[in-house]
Amino acid sequence: MATTEARLLFLTGFVFVATIGYGTYTAHTLSVVKVNGPYYQRIDANNRLLADVMPPPLCAIEVYLCAHLMTRATVPDDRERQIDQYGRLKANYFESLEHWKGTLEDGPLKVQVAETSRESALAIFDAVDQKLIPALRRGDRATAIRVLEIELDPLFAAHRAAVDRAVALAIDTAHADETEVAHLVDTRQRVQLGLTGAFLASTTALALWVAVAVRRRATQFRAMIENSSEAVALLDRSAAALYHSAAVEHMLGYRPDELRGRRVLDLVHPDDAGAASGALGAALRSPRQAFRVEARLRHRDDTYRWAELVCTNQLDDPSVRAIVANVRDVTARRAAEARLRERDELLQKLTDQVPGALYQYRECPDGHRYFPFASVGLRAMLGVAPEEGRESADWGRYVHPGDHGAVRAAVEQSAAALTTLHVEYRVVLPDQGVRWRESRAVPEALPDGSTQWHGYLTDVTERKEWEVRQGNLVRELERRNAEMEQFTYTVSHDLKSPLVTIKGFAGVLGQSLAVGELGGAVGDLLRITTAADRMMALLDDLLDLSRVGRVGGPLVPVVLSEVLGEALERVSGPARAAGVLLRVSGSVCGVVLGDRGRLVEVFQNVLENGVKYGGGGVVEVSGVVASGRVVVSVRDWGIGIEPRHRERIFGLFEKLDPKSPGTGVGLALVKKVVEFHGGRVWVESAGPGTGSAFVIDLPGHDTHTEQQH
Ligand code: ADP
Repeated sequence: MATTEARLLFLTGFVFVATIGYGTYTAHTLSVVKVNGPYYQRIDANNRLLADVMPPPLCAIEVYLCAHLMTRATVPDDRERQIDQYGRLKANYFESLEHWKGTLEDGPLKVQVAETSRESALAIFDAVDQKLIPALRRGDRATAIRVLEIELDPLFAAHRAAVDRAVALAIDTAHADETEVAHLVDTRQRVQLGLTGAFLASTTALALWVAVAVRRRATQFRAMIENSSEAVALLDRSAAALYHSAAVEHMLGYRPDELRGRRVLDLVHPDDAGAASGALGAALRSPRQAFRVEARLRHRDDTYRWAELVCTNQLDDPSVRAIVANVRDVTARRAAEARLRERDELLQKLTDQVPGALYQYRECPDGHRYFPFASVGLRAMLGVAPEEGRESADWGRYVHPGDHGAVRAAVEQSAAALTTLHVEYRVVLPDQGVRWRESRAVPEALPDGSTQWHGYLTDVTERKEWEVRQGNLVRELERRNAEMEQFTYTVSHDLKSPLVTIKGFAGVLGQSLAVGELGGAVGDLLRITTAADRMMALLDDLLDLSRVGRVGGPLVPVVLSEVLGEALERVSGPARAAGVLLRVSGSVCGVVLGDRGRLVEVFQNVLENGVKYGGGGVVEVSGVVASGRVVVSVRDWGIGIEPRHRERIFGLFEKLDPKSPGTGVGLALVKKVVEFHGGRVWVESAGPGTGSAFVIDLPGHDTHTEQQH
């Protein structure tokens, strides 16, 4: 069909172009010589003037008159003036002849006319120049008059006759031209008429053909519209129906003619009337733009059907002059959507009851991540609201920085191998602080290259904390076990040595008594008593140590300067006896929450050691309170401690010099009490002979907070 139309169009176009082309061609090629009196006019077939030509110049009258005047002049000046005038006329003649020749088209006619005129004119000029003027200048008037009357008169006649002949010839040629041109014009008109006829015929054929095609198409369209399940309505400006396609009957039960003239809004459910009239109003305001609305339309049986209306205002289109409304029955789709919504709601309600969060999570190839579905718990689990997660999932926002890399790696590994994602990590949520999460999800690869997981998130903070506590407890238990073993060994070993002494000297004493040698008895008894005292001291210290953290005063805010003051007071006697100066550098301040008596013991022990091992010099106490810690240092310039013994001296019964006084329990007690208070104790010494500093670092107590409480 399209090929035939194209051919017809091509043919019509060709005929049109040929008509125009032929007309233009002949207009330019045909030309006519018309004779109008003594003038030539060259015009084309469309009467456009091409040239306006004078006949060849006639010099006869002027020259003849001039010859007479110069002959009759009695005064030589008059004569010379006439001769000058003659000279100008002659020059003018040749000029005119050249111009005339220039304005004529080339051709034998022009040459013939020009030559005829020129030859006869030259004969006149020759006679005047060579005979008349010389005779006049000589004063020979008789000869002049004879030349004038006998020679010039016939020459003028011959010149005029020559020009007339030329003109006559031109007229004849022009007539012949005219006839030929008339014939050509006639032929052209006939050809043009024929072509115009052909053009009109092909145009009419095309118009007819187009009309038939249009009609056929209109019929096809109508058939399509009438048989379509989608109804089409044409509405006027007030939304009253001008036309309804047959589908409306199937959809709403009305015959199309029953609805003609009825306003479409009369059929719309009252709840949807606002939306429908809104769409129609918008369509009225914006021609050619489609506006879509879904509304319930009343069926003839008074039930309602959901319909999708797409309204396009084509009132300004002269061939439509209506608002075109496409109406589609979407009742089934709406019902399906409602069922889907109900199922979604059910799913949401059920999943919202599950502790933790259930989720569907997707990662697209372009990097976009989101939760297509998530139960309400997602907000509590990850700090991402489900509705926010549907757009984009910035789940990493609240993941603990220390676990972020591990989570990402687990997700990537699960996506790559399509294995179950199982990861435990911390989140730092603004309203919950640090919490532990466990996520388990099964991945699937989607056709578009995305990976989608279905899984759950649970709060495992309690389990994790319990695990940490368990771990700490186990470690603590192991440490204590080891300590106990060491303790048992040390205690049994150290308690044994005074017993061995007692047993040995008791045996010796017994033998001495048996043989009656009592000379060494006093010394033996003294040794036995000393060993028993030592054993007693050891047992006392052990008892004291075992009580740390179990038996003691309540934990109260303890002002450190007071505790130190009491310890210094207790040590002042032995210090004075040993010639040691106890010095406090600056003011040692700060408050510690603790057992006052035990803290006095700590400083007393360290100060006593300073006195014992300080070499009789100075023992200096200094303190710093910084960053919530109270750090006290007790320094001496005595025997010092080798680096390898820095840890050892805090062990039970550890003495670097067995002969030195003391049980070796003091520093073990100090360590235990300090650690019981959440602090640390260590020794700093550059080695033997450089003195040592015992540093006690305790957590400070905020008295301000205390007061507030
Ligand atoms: P002791 O009752 O023997 O003093 P401690 O537990 O108090 O027991 O000290 C353990 C050991 O640490 C001491 O025997 C001593 O060898 C060493 N020591 C303690 N304080 C100092 C000090 N200020 N200078 C050098 N050595 C010290």
